[in-house]
Amino acid sequence: MDIKFKKTTNPAAKPDSTKLGFGRYFTDHMFIMDYSPDKGWHDARIVPFANLSLHPAATVFHYGAEVFEGMKAYRRADGTVQLFRPMENVKRLNSSAERLCLPQIDEQDALEAIMKFVEVEQSWVPCNPGTSLYLRPFLFGSDEQLGLHTIQNAMFIIIASPVGSYYAAGINPVKIMIETEDVRAVKGGTGYTKCGGNYAASNRAAARAEEKGYSQVLWLDGVHRKYIEEVGAMNVMFRIGDEIVTPELSGSILPGITRKSCLEVLRNEGYKVSERKISVDELLEAMKNGTLKEAWGCGTAAVVSPIGELAYGDMKYTVNNFEIGEITKHLYDTLTGIQWGKTPDTYGWTVEIPANK
Ligand SMILES: *Cc1c(COP(=O)(O)O)cnc(C)c1O
Repeated sequence: MDIKFKKTTNPAAKPDSTKLGFGRYFTDHMFIMDYSPDKGWHDARIVPFANLSLHPAATVFHYGAEVFEGMKAYRRADGTVQLFRPMENVKRLNSSAERLCLPQIDEQDALEAIMKFVEVEQSWVPCNPGTSLYLRPFLFGSDEQLGLHTIQNAMFIIIASPVGSYYAAGINPVKIMIETEDVRAVKGGTGYTKCGGNYAASNRAAARAEEKGYSQVLWLDGVHRKYIEEVGAMNVMFRIGDEIVTPELSGSILPGITRKSCLEVLRNEGYKVSERKISVDELLEAMKNGTLKEAWGCGTAAVVSPIGELAYGDMKYTVNNFEIGEITKHLYDTLTGIQWGKTPDTYGWTVEIPANK
């Protein structure tokens, strides 16, 4: 793929890498590529970071045709930069796009776009412990008409943001509220895609939970309101007795790459792992009788996030004395070790970015 490069004449000063937060700073450039029915994907370019100019009738504003990815570039101790399972993000982007009738991108082209963009922006990958360069590829419909038709024109853009450690104050367990009113997704809908609309639909429950002092909600299935699905922007796992259980990929939950990696690590190490339905009753019973040993969320942003309290209606349950559990900690250490290149990548998950000449 031919990628044109227009270098910024006005590079920004790098932010203080001890005060990055999440998604507040952006790098000097962005990757853009356009799609039209006659030309397919064309005009791939890396250009100075700037506001976009879009027609006010563009499909994305009215009918929500947008899908995205979230991934990170990590700096190793030796100074090199690497990605973690980037092809998984590319595949999921296409799977999301397919559901929303947005055009597919050739996998190799999408990977090349991500890698070339990170290569250009590599000086923005911070090096303090736990920091990374968060990458946000997104794809949306840009037709300039209000009529509801199959999407003809689209854009694929990648932006990047240096982000701080999710655990600036140490790995502290979070409080999660089981949501009983709103639902996030149903089978046959868009739950398995990373589309903006899923987040819009989640906002109200998230706001209510936050008001009550909870960091995220735990969704139940939309039909029976009975089976555990996932947490806000993370998949969820439980250790019940000696079994590690996580909801099966039923079509309504997001197939997380961190989830997949945790399962591969656990299975490889001989743990008993099940992907199956978990009812809220089973979970409550396990909390009451003490067999629920650990609970954690997993996703790219936090990697692994221990759950210290679960609320259901008026009841509150503490998990593992509000401490990080043994397997939770082990998964966190294993994945972050590979991602930041501190431990050998025996799984072949990392992809190195060529150094700038
Ligand atoms: C992105 C996301 C996840 C986590 O996926 P990863 O690939 O592990 O980052 C989980 N649930 C939802 C709803 C998400 O959007």
